[in-house]
Parts: sequence; C-alpha cells; structure tokens
Amino acid sequence: MMAEEGVAGGSRSAGRGPAFLVPDQLERSRLRRRMLVGNWKMNQPADVSEYLQQISSRAATLSSISVAIAPPATLLAQISRSRDILAAGQDCHKSASGPFTGAVSAALLRHAGASLVLIGHSERRAEGDTDQTVRSKLERAWAAGLTPILCVGETMADVQRGLVGSRVAAQVLAGVPEDEPSAPLIVAYEPVWAIGTGRTPTQEEVGAAAAAIRQALRKRISIRAEQTTILYGGSVTPTSVLALCGVSDIDGFLVGSASLSASDIVSIMEAIAS
Ligand code: PEP
Repeated sequence: MMAEEGVAGGSRSAGRGPAFLVPDQLERSRLRRRMLVGNWKMNQPADVSEYLQQISSRAATLSSISVAIAPPATLLAQISRSRDILAAGQDCHKSASGPFTGAVSAALLRHAGASLVLIGHSERRAEGDTDQTVRSKLERAWAAGLTPILCVGETMADVQRGLVGSRVAAQVLAGVPEDEPSAPLIVAYEPVWAIGTGRTPTQEEVGAAAAAIRQALRKRISIRAEQTTILYGGSVTPTSVLALCGVSDIDGFLVGSASLSASDIVSIMEAIAS
C-alpha cells in the first residue's frame, strides 16, 4: 500500500507499511477522543455557509471534542476549509482508481480535503458491500492516509435471535486486518433498526454492544483497542443523546438526519462536551 503526501493539518504516525495522516484534532490525544460526526447522506442544509459558520464558531469553544461532517463528496472541499471542522467522506471505492463511473476513491476524497471516511455504513452494506468489500475499502482508506470510521451494527432479526454481540464482533473481525498496528481507526456502532427510525437502544444495550466491539478490537489490534474511539449512531437527536452520553464505552456520536440542522448539531456537541 502506498500513502500519498501533502494534506495540511495532520501528522504522520510511525510504523510498518504506509504512513497514516492523523488529523491534528485527533492526534492531540492519541487516547479515546470525544467526537461528533454528522452524516448528511445525499442531502445538504439549505445554507451550507451559514450552517458551517454556526457550528465552527461553537466547535472553536469546545476544544474537548472533535467535530466532523460527512457531506456529499461535492461539498468536501467547502467543509475542509471550515475552521475547527473535519471533513469526512461517506464512502470510498474498494479500488484505487479505474473505470468506475460515479465512484470516488479514497485518494480523491483526500485530495478534496477529507481526513476521515465512513466505511461499511449499513446503507452501503444494503447496496451490496460485503465484509470483504468493507475490508478492501478500509485498506484503501489507510493507503490514502485517511482515518476510517468502520460502521457496524445488527439488524432487528439479530436482536430477536440474541445475536447483537456476535454480529458486531464478527463485523469488526471481518473489517479490520491484523497486520496494521499503527493505523488509525474509529468504530461506529449503528444498529440498522435504529437508523432513521426514531428508535434507539437502551444504555445497557449500547454498552453491551460497545463492549463486544472493544473485545473484538482487542483480538485485532491488541492494546490499541483501549484507545479506539467508539461512536454510537442511530436516531441521535438533542433529546435522545442525553440518555446515551453516559455509556462508558461510547466516546461520541454519528448523527444522520439531525446533522442537517446546525442548532441540533450544536446542542448535541454541547451535550457531548458537558
Ligand atoms: C446514519 O446515517 O449514520 C444515522 C445514524 O442516521 P440517523 O441519525 O438519521 O438515524
């Protein structure tokens, strides 16, 4: 794998294989970082400039948390120019380049200003991403110097069969290769049944799933598992976040619909920071 050079605002971690670009905001603490990632999906706020102005001025005063926005790829450059906001891709292709009309590679995301990328979001898995595709994309993200946010989560059928822990652990083990000890990684626990439905799991359910994720991470990346940021995502709003902030293994949130509202994002940032 070859890493690219030349994205400002980050530093490179040492180690075998490619050098990884770690955003300054994440590098400041190599330990678990409180974090909020907004996923706009295939939408954008009515006034992107106004939105960015509002959230970046609040983010500047909340230095204990990292804030990232995953916009449609067409808006990455604009997000990346915002002070105190990291830009994240929503997905990348499993190949480095080639005849894949409509697709965006990890390296192109980085050229557009991204430092993070969502990998294995359930909406991509529903469109055909297998565990093997997810792993290939994660490796492409690393090769391009991006920090992947690996999304894992169970379906309602898994819940009914008591398979939540084993499902998320299997997705972590399938998605994360064993041989990249220095590569940056964030995991997002997103129950498929909670995304966009207004339903959220209980604190206990989130805690149990996050513990299963961390246990699986220990198998893959050993001691660094304790330092890996784990986010929760699925119908997070300024109200629902309050119940989930206290879960010990959860360091922050991946927010879909509510992230289109600057005031909602600011409220969620404040809840995480308090
Ligand atoms: C998501 O798309 O990652 C997500 C969590 O969506 P929502 O917050 O709308 O459930």
